[in-house]
Amino acid sequence: EGPAWFAAGRYLVFSDIPNNRMLRYDDTSGHVSVFRQPSNNCNGNTVDRQGRLVTCEHLTRRVTRTGFDGRIDVIADRFEGKRLNSPNDVVVKSDGSIWFTDPSYGIMHDYEGDYGTQEIDGCHVHRVDPQTGAIAAVATDFVKPNGLAFSPDESLLYVADTGASHLKDGPRHIRTLRVNPDLSLTPVGIFATCTAGMFDGFRVDPKGRIWTSAADGVHCYDPDGTLIGKVRIPEFVSNLTFGGDKGNRLFITGTTSLY
Ligand code: MG
Repeated sequence: EGPAWFAAGRYLVFSDIPNNRMLRYDDTSGHVSVFRQPSNNCNGNTVDRQGRLVTCEHLTRRVTRTGFDGRIDVIADRFEGKRLNSPNDVVVKSDGSIWFTDPSYGIMHDYEGDYGTQEIDGCHVHRVDPQTGAIAAVATDFVKPNGLAFSPDESLLYVADTGASHLKDGPRHIRTLRVNPDLSLTPVGIFATCTAGMFDGFRVDPKGRIWTSAADGVHCYDPDGTLIGKVRIPEFVSNLTFGGDKGNRLFITGTTSLY
């Protein structure tokens, strides 16, 4: 999970959630090494506008940022006084605000975190104000919000709902929400429904196309929702990101391998 490309260092950081570690793929040598262990069963990662690592942690039920000096700061761990569920995936908007999803996968069992009590009434999408650090719930009508990404002009936020994982006939789609000037969200509709398993993490390319994880690989959608094609992968795909010198290489995390 959680692939994040660091252009200056030419390496990719990614999460091995059940093994409680983060790994680093060095693009200069092809070598993979342990980046952080224990990792607090971290899941989604991203790189903020300053080039810092932002991480969702299941075990500690928080979102953190790793500074240039290596110090780890807590960005969010509570909402209205209650512990978060288990932050899953995260993106940073150009204004520095941090947006993350908070489904309960990390506290439902001991496999990807610790079994624990859900304190928040629901699984929401949250936004953290870059100036004040205040945390808001910006979407509260998801079953299990998961991957998320902005359109290139940041007028739209796409959010996956993997509610079908534990709910018969639950959602297995990506929704579109309009980002208002005050950073509130207005639901637009369902962008696409997954035809192979569920959409977990995904990214939007500079032309607005959505490249999303699915059970049989990566599905690529035109901004109008048309399925353009698939990158077949021989195991479940959890997430992906773009990297390389030109940002045109796709790094894909599968269940047991990085592609
Ligand atoms: Mg996810």
